[in-house]
Amino acid sequence: MARFEVDLTAFATNLVTIRTTVAPAVHMLVVKDDAYGHGLAAIVPAARVGGVRWFGTFDVATAVAVRALTGPAPRIVAWTVYNAGEIDLALAHDIDLGLGTHELITATAAVGARTGHAARVHLKVDTGLHRNGIRPEGWAAAVAAAEHAQRAGALSIEGVWSHIAEASDEADDRARDEFFTAVDAFEQAPPLRHLAASAAAFARPGFQLDLVRIGAFAYGIRPSDGPSDAELGIRPIGTLIASVTDVATDAVTVDVGSLDGLDSRLAGRLQVGTPAGPRPVTAIGPVSAQVAAWPGAAVGDDVALFGGRAPASATDVAEMLHTIGEEVVLRISPRLPRRYLSAAA
Ligand SMILES: *Cc1c(COP(=O)(O)O)cnc(C)c1O
Repeated sequence: MARFEVDLTAFATNLVTIRTTVAPAVHMLVVKDDAYGHGLAAIVPAARVGGVRWFGTFDVATAVAVRALTGPAPRIVAWTVYNAGEIDLALAHDIDLGLGTHELITATAAVGARTGHAARVHLKVDTGLHRNGIRPEGWAAAVAAAEHAQRAGALSIEGVWSHIAEASDEADDRARDEFFTAVDAFEQAPPLRHLAASAAAFARPGFQLDLVRIGAFAYGIRPSDGPSDAELGIRPIGTLIASVTDVATDAVTVDVGSLDGLDSRLAGRLQVGTPAGPRPVTAIGPVSAQVAAWPGAAVGDDVALFGGRAPASATDVAEMLHTIGEEVVLRISPRLPRRYLSAAA
């Protein structure tokens, strides 16, 4: 049966690589988009066993789901707050909030003053990506408001952070300069500065600071047109697997098609893993695909389409399609069951 198979041993190995690469900075595991399609419910407990102490999510609802999986110990940061009602929810579940507007600082401080429970917050400065964050011109006033609320016991400023493009070293250098200027605006420097995601955390040690927010590399998704898995010391943890449903003379049919995440432009270009070694995909329909036949092919055989156990990784596929590995993995249909392999299983 078609499935997305996730190797939790490979995940644990990637976590060790990340931890040693970024030390003494700490790894915040980013688990947005259902842990990049790998399944939050299995990834979070595996990450806990692997020593992860910080989790990062987009939204508060996911952060609350992570808290239910972890219990009280780890820190969980949600960096998008859609409305003030979510602030109460986050506080009730001991979630740190990433705040990217002055209004949210004010609203969070008001909740802290009302409940007597100071929210832990990470103030976000926009250093050029324009993907939320407080613009430099409003930064001094926002910091002053947050520090005032902190003195009143209504907020606890845990961190200052930004997100960078990781597209060119020059632009990232400029963003880091702006970031350091923003850090200087505090009367009392926040304990944690965080700026880097996967690519910068590995390629540019000067961007690691105190905390790095890494998703992609933990799942073994390397950047398109960048360093290899071997150079990074990571490997893909997921493999999209199809099953043979029909065998003809020249081709076998497998039960994954374009609707499940096998882009139809890959026909004639992608080599997949069969029991007899790599074979090309020759045609891709909406719910099935054709693979060049091999001797002894049988209904029920597994075919590894892409990922850690296939000839091509998700990023190899992404490079054929001029996109990024995250997009290829996130296209895998939620309809396909996630299956987990681990040393203990
Ligand atoms: C997705 C995301 C990350 C993680 O990026 P990767 O390249 O997957 O490591 C870090 N920070 C923010 C704000 C993000 O949205």
